[in-house]
Amino acid sequence: MRHLPYFPCFDCRRNTVLNDYYMVDDSLWIFAIRAELREIENLGFVPIRLCVVFLCFHCLERRIGRKLVSSDFPPFICNEENAFVRRLRGSTE
Ligand SMILES: [Zn+2]
Repeated sequence: MRHLPYFPCFDCRRNTVLNDYYMVDDSLWIFAIRAELREIENLGFVPIRLCVVFLCFHCLERRIGRKLVSSDFPPFICNEENAFVRRLRGSTE
């Protein structure tokens, strides 16, 4: 069995490498991880990268309090190749 990298969802520990590899709009992401960003700042660090945590789609939707929509995902390759985003985009493949 091939050994997959493990990027656990911060909330449910599901491995986001499998099906939850995506990038959403920066402002939405900052909103979703605002608590973690505040914690880092309180420790005296400047969060230079926004990928300090990973979230699966399910937990991201729970954090933002709504369903994700196609326009939440900029046209990055990781999004265009993601099955969940493709479904949101209306692709039938
Ligand atoms: Zn999760």
